Amino acid sequence: MNIFQKGFNYSQDGPGNRLVYHLKGCNMHCPWCSNPEGMSTSVGTYTVMTPSELVSEAISSKPMFFDGGGVTFTGGEATQQSVELAEVLRGLSENGINTAMETNGTYRQLGDLFCWIDHLMIDFKHPLSERHKRFTGLPNDVVKDNIRLAIAKEKDLLVRIPFIGGVNNDRESIDGFLDFFKSLDTDRFRVEILPYHEYGKDKWEKCGLPYAMQHAFVSEDERTKFEQQLMAIGVAVIRT
Ligand code: SF4
Repeated sequence: MNIFQKGFNYSQDGPGNRLVYHLKGCNMHCPWCSNPEGMSTSVGTYTVMTPSELVSEAISSKPMFFDGGGVTFTGGEATQQSVELAEVLRGLSENGINTAMETNGTYRQLGDLFCWIDHLMIDFKHPLSERHKRFTGLPNDVVKDNIRLAIAKEKDLLVRIPFIGGVNNDRESIDGFLDFFKSLDTDRFRVEILPYHEYGKDKWEKCGLPYAMQHAFVSEDERTKFEQQLMAIGVAVIRT
């Protein structure tokens, strides 16, 4: 497995203290990405581990998994390494290690991994497919299907929305999010709004890539109003 970053993180990538693996490679190209070094397999350095090496490392880290912690996979897009990911998730599960995964939701066979994932985080970037494609490079139909499937399979699901000025903070976009969520069983998932930030900007420059985002910050008032609109339709909203 190609891993461009790993380390412990508390509560932001699933419950408790977690060993978080960032897997290299992504099938999207979001211009706001905070880990541009993880988008391409041809940019930057990475560590290679076999699934069994990763499982062994996690087993030896068990004392660190306090407060319900465990292992989280994120990226890049973790499902770009789906064969190895399935093997390592199964190995962790068999060893009683709590697993979480953050994904952009575009992997059509995501449901095949559900039996080994305790906590699932799906990023939902835009409710309107054409605009989703314009910003990320891919339409959103599979993302929506995977959200519906996770709900149908009663997975512990957190939908994360990167909330970005000029991308998805206009009236039409917010109505699109609300309409989609209203079509779901709102008792079976939570939503977290992640306001735009520029933590990754320097990394784009270090990778030799142009940073195209401008005027994308959203105000605290906008965020709170969106959260209130979500809660008004019965969606549980969290902040981590
Ligand atoms: S899906 Fe995530 S990792 Fe991939 S480019 Fe977008 S923000 Fe970056």
